[in-house]
This record gives sequence, structure tokens and C-alpha cells, in this order.
Amino acid sequence: MGCMLCPRQCNADRDGGEVGYCAMPAEVRVARAALHPFEEPPISGTRGSGTVFFVGCSLRCVFCQNSAIRSPDCGKAFSVTELGELFLALQREGAHNINLVTPTHYADKIAAALAAVRERLTIPVVYNCGGYERVETLQMLDGLVDIYLPDFKYSDASLSGDYSAAPDYSAYATAALAEMLRQVGEVRLDENGLMTRGVMVRHLVLPGSRKDSMAVLELIAKTVPVSGIRLSLMRQYTPDFAPRSAPKSLKRRLTSFEYNSVMEHAISLGFEGYFQTGESVGTEYTPDFSASVFPENKDT
Ligand code: SF4
Repeated sequence: MGCMLCPRQCNADRDGGEVGYCAMPAEVRVARAALHPFEEPPISGTRGSGTVFFVGCSLRCVFCQNSAIRSPDCGKAFSVTELGELFLALQREGAHNINLVTPTHYADKIAAALAAVRERLTIPVVYNCGGYERVETLQMLDGLVDIYLPDFKYSDASLSGDYSAAPDYSAYATAALAEMLRQVGEVRLDENGLMTRGVMVRHLVLPGSRKDSMAVLELIAKTVPVSGIRLSLMRQYTPDFAPRSAPKSLKRRLTSFEYNSVMEHAISLGFEGYFQTGESVGTEYTPDFSASVFPENKDT
């Protein structure tokens, strides 16, 4: 059977050289693997999160900040064994966790790599995804992932259709969120305030979409107990990455009114978590993918 890892269910024979919507071959490619200080405080801690930025994406949003690493020519290829060794190298560098960024289209290989090193990996594994996931794929990761860090981007089908070509986004994201909570349970922090287990949901408030953001929060609150998860409400949208063809609403910055009204709604629904300040808005917080960075050879 061909690839059915994500809700696109292309059935592409990736091992045989075909590509599907994500445009990625079966071979795992990594654009960057390094300690990263700009995640939420319980993920980045003081030493940084061991982020592994995978090349490609099955969602391909029009406003993507990481579109520089969507081409299959980016980064370096890793076998399953090499990927497990990469996780261990980040652990040796002092990472608080292994943070798998945009992993869905390689989920089967990642599960195999994690299973191979699970006895030697002593730090939590974070599955940092777009929220557009199949429950069947998440079940491959049951027992291998400690923290789920999914986006929940949209409620409205026309918005998810226009911005991500995924009108079925909210149905998949809702089922995925329930499965994530089933696997890892309620949020747990260690004595230093670092997250060791649980689910943190990210939502990026987009310009012109504050009502949909509020609907997303209501959908999350209907799906899982808000006291058992954390919310990261992000305002880092920058129009710098929107293509010329993007809708007009995506060509401006978010206003404080838009962000603050969504934040107030989140608080009124009982969410706890992280509310982003204006200081982190801009392209400087997007990793530089122009020079590949890996633990054991930082100059390649
Ligand atoms: S991971 Fe890629 S090939 Fe597989 S179903 Fe999703 S978009 Fe299609």
C-alpha cells in the first residue's frame, strides 16, 4: 500500500519513487538539528530544546514561515539508524528534550528510530506538528512520544481550505487532539518547570481571523478538559512570508486588538498557558536554514 501517513492519504508509492501532496520521497531529510531557545519556556528551558527540523510538510500553508525547507533538495538524508543517533547526539549536547518539528510525513521512520534508541534516550520526546494528523498514524507513536505540541489552526472549513487546501482540517485536528491526550495524559512539569509529559496546543492568531480563533478555542474546550492541557497563543504572524498571491488579509500584521480579544476569550474559557508578547514578532525568530546545522558537524 502507498503512503497514507497524513489525512491527504495520497496512496503514493514513496519507496518506489512516487511523491504525494507533500512532495517528499520516502527518505528522511533533516534541514537543521540544534539546540533552540525560542520555544515556550517549559520546552526550551535554560539550555534549549533539541529541535530536529524535518524537510517538507504535508500541510503547506500559504503563510508558512519555514517554506525555505519545503524542497526535497534541502538538508541531509538520514537513515533510521542515523536518525536515532542524531537524537542521542542532541541529548549529549544538553538538550532538554528531542523536538520533532513537522514530522508527520516521516512518522513511520521516526517511530522506528525512536524505538531503536528508547533505552538510551532519557529526555522527553516532543511531537511538534501542524495538528492535521490521522489517529492511525499517531497510534504508531504511542509509548514513544511524551509531549504533543500540535497546532490547532482553524475551525472554519473555508479558511482551512483557502490557507492550507485542507477543508477537513478541524475534523482531523479534533480527533487527533483527543488521541494525543489519551496517549500522554495531563500536563506534568518537573521541579524546574520543564514539561515532561502532556499536550500543549499552539494557536497562531491570524490577521482578519480573530472570530475563527475564538471558535478554535471553543472547539478545543469541547474536545478536551482545558485544565489538562496548556495553550500557547501565538501572535508571531508576519506578512513577510506571504506570497504575492496570498489573500489581502494576510498582507498585514496582526493588531493588538485582535490578539488581546482572543487572549481574553481564552482566559474566559479557563485556558492556562503562554501568551506571546509583541517582542517576538518578526523574522528574526525563524531559524536560519541557509546554513545547515547538525550536532557533530556544524559547518556542513
Ligand atoms: S505524507 Fe505526503 S505522500 Fe503521504 S499521504 Fe501525506 S501528503 Fe500524501
